[in-house]
Amino acid sequence: MSETVLQGRGICKSFGTKRDRRQVLFDVDIDVRERECLAIIGASGSGKSTLTRVLFGLEPADSGEITYRGQRLSPSHDSAASRALRDETGLVFQDPFGSLDPRWRVARTVGEPLRLRRDGPGDDEIVSRVDRALRAVGLDPKTFAARYPVDLSGGQAQRVAIARAIVADPCIILADEPMSAIDVAARVRILDAFAAIRQANPGMSLVMVSHDLGVVQHIADRVMVLHDGRVEESGPTARILGDPRTAYTRSLIEAAS
Ligand code: ADP
Ligand code: MG
Repeated sequence: MSETVLQGRGICKSFGTKRDRRQVLFDVDIDVRERECLAIIGASGSGKSTLTRVLFGLEPADSGEITYRGQRLSPSHDSAASRALRDETGLVFQDPFGSLDPRWRVARTVGEPLRLRRDGPGDDEIVSRVDRALRAVGLDPKTFAARYPVDLSGGQAQRVAIARAIVADPCIILADEPMSAIDVAARVRILDAFAAIRQANPGMSLVMVSHDLGVVQHIADRVMVLHDGRVEESGPTARILGDPRTAYTRSLIEAAS
């Protein structure tokens, strides 16, 4: 079995004020292993986005412990482990245009993570890595590098966001419902892009939050089911989808088919 890269233990998280508090994560354990694609599924509002945001250090947990490569993340996110996680993670979210700066050409957007690096590569190297990342997601740099977001379709914009997520060779990609805002015809290309990226980077892990069980079946090695902020069950994709152990998981599968 491959090693765990990113691990959460006993994660609890609430929102609201002291008087009006709502707990959304209850004692969640999660493991992301090297090389795998882990899918997180669950009804809308079950806590998938909150869990991934907390796990990747984008938001603090109320309690619990998160470790990256065996080193504990600090609550204030200024530890070496927190910095390493930030540097070695690529993020893709639901709304592609929301995450692209409308004033920036595609080449600048995709190259930004390299420019933000301390000891990052020089300009020529950035250009060639941006070209490589664009090709990896099926976008010809000659056509797309100089475009602005306004001249992209939703699917193209999301592939630009994915190119940005992979340009610095991340160890883990977090993709939170990357296809749900994309029209059906373009989803296939995005799925193909993820599959190609995994093939080209076999050491990388992918955490994919998705409503689409067809996508999950196609790409995930393991599935974790969240139900009202608790882990309902988790296991190999074929087992979860083929032999769900709980009524909740069965209802998710039935709703999708
Ligand atoms: P999912 O991604 O599974 O749809 P979320 O993690 O987005 O679920 O949300 C889980 C619950 O937490 C929801 O009830 C949502 O309204 C609530 N929630 C999420 N983010 C916030 C926030 N920043 N402030 C208050 N409540 C939030
Ligand atoms: Mg969500």
